[in-house]
Amino acid sequence: MAFTLKPLPYPKDALDPMMSARTLEFHHGKHHAAYVSKLNELIKGTKHENADLETIIRETANATGAEKKIFNNAAQVWNHDFYWESLAPNGGGTPPEPVLKRIEASFGSFDNFRDKFVEAAVNQFGSGWAWLVLKGDKLEITTTHDADNPLTHGERPLWTCDVWEHAYYLDYQNERARFVKTVIERLANWQFVGKLLAESQG
Ligand code: MN
Repeated sequence: MAFTLKPLPYPKDALDPMMSARTLEFHHGKHHAAYVSKLNELIKGTKHENADLETIIRETANATGAEKKIFNNAAQVWNHDFYWESLAPNGGGTPPEPVLKRIEASFGSFDNFRDKFVEAAVNQFGSGWAWLVLKGDKLEITTTHDADNPLTHGERPLWTCDVWEHAYYLDYQNERARFVKTVIERLANWQFVGKLLAESQG
């Protein structure tokens, strides 16, 4: 099954000025698109050819060599699909009550969650992702390196921020902390997190 680049869930200028149309043009239109076409090229004629994305990710998670390349591209496609859903025009602000209660139960307060998330994102050396995940019944902040994804670590992703340089360099240059803080405060799609949390209890 050939994968296609999922369209952005909003127009590419909808997150401006927190995330510019130019960033989305490159990040979605070039970087994300390249992972999709590379994945299609790599799985052609292999046992992964007709598998869905999550299956490919799980089956190649600890691979080396050619299979590792498949993992990297499959996980990057999944991570970016999830990242675009994690953002929303007019996002940010205070999460809806059920989400806020879970955040307060795990991190004490929303401000503490935000500060800890920014700190973790900044301390992720090199390329990677910062995540809010569900582990057991507790919310945790975690980071992954390069394409790695919490699904292969027994965690359920609830929200993410891309901390590869291509995610912020055009708008924030080297200021990763300011980027992540802005994304949490102004763009986070808490409705999406609420929906995932509700599903996890169902
Ligand atoms: Mn990216």
